[in-house]
Amino acid sequence: MSHIHVGSNMPGYLPEGDIYCTDTIDDALGALRFDLQDAADHYFELCEAENESQWLKGSDCCDWCDVGYNVAAAINRISNGDAAYSMENGGDVLFNFSPPEGPDLSYWAVLTSGEHDGCELAEGEF
Ligand SMILES: [Zn+2]
Ligand SMILES: [Zn+2]
Repeated sequence: MSHIHVGSNMPGYLPEGDIYCTDTIDDALGALRFDLQDAADHYFELCEAENESQWLKGSDCCDWCDVGYNVAAAINRISNGDAAYSMENGGDVLFNFSPPEGPDLSYWAVLTSGEHDGCELAEGEF
């Protein structure tokens, strides 16, 4: 029996707190999608387009939009069932993004050994 941890961090660094612990794939991917939506909104807000025709170029608009659309594609992989399918088959879900400024980011939902009930991260959540 295993359960799932969801979180985000910069690759190479240990995640700091804020790990979501759940025993259902639905919950895990819901949490992951929520975090990704936040990230996409953030990147699109930083868009450097100076006029609408540039913005309409989509991922070619600017570097921020490029990352924003990558995040949107990741969200789409959750919406279309791709991510759930790989988790059901024992795979982890991991998305990496490279914004034009600042460190790379990764967002993940990983299978973790042990029962959800016995997990130290689950304790004190409620
Ligand atoms: Zn846990
Ligand atoms: Zn843009």
